[in-house]
Amino acid sequence: MIFAEFGITPIINAYGTNTRLSAGPLADEVAEAMRAAATASVDILDLQAAACREIQRATGAEAGFVTSGASAALLLAAAACLARLDAGAMNRLPVTREGRCEFLISRSQRNMYDRAIETAGGRLVDVGIPDRVSGAGVRDASAAEFADAITPRTAGILHVAQPRAEPPLREIIAVARAAGIPVIVDAAAQLPPAENLRRFIAEGADLVAFSGGKAIGGPQASGLLAGQGVLVASALAQMLDLDLPASQFRAPAEFSALSQLAFFPRTGIGRSCKVGREEVMGLLVALRRFTAEDAATRRARWQARLDAVRVASGLEFEAGMAGEVPLLWLRVPDAPAMEARLRAGCPAVHVNPARLAEGILTINPVSLHDRDCARLGELLRAALAE
Ligand SMILES: *Cc1c(COP(=O)(O)O)cnc(C)c1O
Repeated sequence: MIFAEFGITPIINAYGTNTRLSAGPLADEVAEAMRAAATASVDILDLQAAACREIQRATGAEAGFVTSGASAALLLAAAACLARLDAGAMNRLPVTREGRCEFLISRSQRNMYDRAIETAGGRLVDVGIPDRVSGAGVRDASAAEFADAITPRTAGILHVAQPRAEPPLREIIAVARAAGIPVIVDAAAQLPPAENLRRFIAEGADLVAFSGGKAIGGPQASGLLAGQGVLVASALAQMLDLDLPASQFRAPAEFSALSQLAFFPRTGIGRSCKVGREEVMGLLVALRRFTAEDAATRRARWQARLDAVRVASGLEFEAGMAGEVPLLWLRVPDAPAMEARLRAGCPAVHVNPARLAEGILTINPVSLHDRDCARLGELLRAALAE
């Protein structure tokens, strides 16, 4: 094992797709796609044009490309809304000249990833008061409050997708359409259900960001941005290495809007979001696998891992669900102490702490390697006996 050569002991990841824990193992086919991609050179623009065709098929969007993650996709999406096809504006980001740099977001949707918008030069403006979150009242932000918050400085709206997100995306889109401003959807972790690949686009979102390293099963540092052709082309122009004479550049049909640039922009704000051919190919193969697998097969695959943990442990679990993901819940006398013992072990075991305060350890199968399941069961039993 390569990690041992460098003095690193792999962990058992029963927590989930967390970046901090390097998410889950890649399917052999995905790892092989990355290895094979590494053995040849390609024109990156041609590669992203191929990615565009694949993402069009998977999402129904006009265009798309592979990014280095959902956070990168959000940064690039904001840059696209700020600069559109204005090469001068691209060159100035994160500074905006005309003051049209604000992105509205429901205060209840503020989260640690939204600073990607500000990194590009956007400024977040909170809308509404999420009374229902504090228990002080029953309301969240309304679409009418968004309509009221739009000013000439508004560059877009950021909507963080969730099954119960308020206001509903459809209402936000109606308000944004009426005002002529774009809507970016952060759908990083909204897969499965696989239908969500198409859903936000179908509802009228202008740009949608997905993580590649979560349930799609792509490389950890991959994601995708899908949406309206002009905005996607703008985002791509701000990420690509464009260090070539303008006369040598030709816009591929998938990103034809690039031919509208008045002049050739410099390497852009998104250059730090660089994505390599290995990640692009890994993500595309993972996306094909994800869209080809039906929900029942995916669930059975995850359930089989949980069954292997349960059988090897000989313990009694409760069966839980998080969306379409089956879980095991283990009620123990001192959950925080047991969680710490597992983490301090060798190999370290990371379980999901979502219900720790209730005395419950959660086993999430998404990032769990098949070969670790029986070992995990034994380690759980041993930690409980201690
Ligand atoms: C995970 C996540 C992100 C970041 O995704 P990466 O692909 O790791 O960059 C952004 N937004 C939300 C809501 C997420 O859950």
